[in-house]
Amino acid sequence: MLDAYLRNGELFLKEEGVDEITEETIRKTYLWPVDEMACGVGVGSEGEAIAILRKFGFELSGKTRELLPSLIPDKKGTCSICGKETRVVLNKAFIFPFERKVDSIVNEGNRLTFCMEHAFKLYSAMAYLYVVPMKDGTLKFFFDGPERELRRFKNTFKRSFWLERFSVEVKEKNGKKSYSLRVNLTLSRYHPNEAFFAVLHEFVKHLRNRGMFRDALESGRTVRAYLIYGSGQFYRERIIEGTTLERLMDFLKRVQEHGKETRWGRRHLGQRDSAVYLFYENLEIPRNKKDRSKNFLEREEFIGKLLGGRFDFVLLNRIFMERVKAKLPLPFYYHAWALSFLEVFGGDVMDVETFKGINGLGYALGKAMKGTNLERYQWELFRARGFEEFLNKLVELQAKLEISLDLRPIYENKREWKVVKAVLLNGMLNALYEKEKGVSE
Ligand SMILES: [Zn+2]
Repeated sequence: MLDAYLRNGELFLKEEGVDEITEETIRKTYLWPVDEMACGVGVGSEGEAIAILRKFGFELSGKTRELLPSLIPDKKGTCSICGKETRVVLNKAFIFPFERKVDSIVNEGNRLTFCMEHAFKLYSAMAYLYVVPMKDGTLKFFFDGPERELRRFKNTFKRSFWLERFSVEVKEKNGKKSYSLRVNLTLSRYHPNEAFFAVLHEFVKHLRNRGMFRDALESGRTVRAYLIYGSGQFYRERIIEGTTLERLMDFLKRVQEHGKETRWGRRHLGQRDSAVYLFYENLEIPRNKKDRSKNFLEREEFIGKLLGGRFDFVLLNRIFMERVKAKLPLPFYYHAWALSFLEVFGGDVMDVETFKGINGLGYALGKAMKGTNLERYQWELFRARGFEEFLNKLVELQAKLEISLDLRPIYENKREWKVVKAVLLNGMLNALYEKEKGVSE
């Protein structure tokens, strides 16, 4: 991650025309990366820069009053990047913010130290670091890739999109400035994966509105995203590879295409928002009134897997069942989400055809069960503990309904029976709880 982060600093300095790093250039330019990160809010002093860094979730010690002295090497050592024995500085949270403290506590010798050049390049990388504030802490992310593609992608992402959606607001009171971060996103986010997904949805929408989607997709193919969240001892990171990022964007585009203008409560949803929004926001499982973030733990897990290229039908089925129990509507546009995903990512366990077959089977059963005293079979099937039990219940249900459906897709996927069961049940629930009117696919 160190190298990936470093490349952002190199790119920024190049864009700013800083090609030689000396004490003098550092003194002259060290406020620039902070200002760039804060989308040009106008950083006038070291004190303001420190206040902004704290707001962006950089873990500066309470004693930090200045940045500059920590960028100028003052002791002998070895640079952790180039290996040169020279004068170095000890890493600080504003130089490379993601040094895991756990590693460094174990052995002081493991602490990162940098020569002047590499310290300043790393420090400058914050220019292209993006921050989404959440209820607890922040999601930070940045991109990495070959220089040309990284620059192209960065230009599209930052200049065209991020500057429009993200802002730093300044309030002045008694001559002292305070800052707050604003991100304008359609989707709610309580957790880090949700936050990145919400950004990605907005980005795809933005690209399509401006006819830039194809281009961005192409440069995105070689660009990876680094996501970092948590704090102190517990930084967690994940990398989304370019090929996955590209597919996620394609997936979002397809889902967006399924939507139509809708009213949802007091909200008006545009055509490109509704199919994403109405599924995503209905993945809530109500359990905590005080702390709503607890209601979205399953959604976070589901989205986390999605970002890794997996559509977890079993987890989704658990969410559906919980919502049925709580008499809440099922997430709308389930079909659009599942199909778009399988079309883009292909299926490992479940391909498009198998999904259609089993989902259709579940749907047909649900239709036949609706309004009869056999509705309880949704729970009997849900609780089935093994393939045999699951199959027996299914045969039993068919007999009672006096219908005969083709169960071959079930037999053929016996090894993945849990996924099969989940897909079948999801189809069934959709038939049972379909709204007569209002939003649907
Ligand atoms: Zn070095």
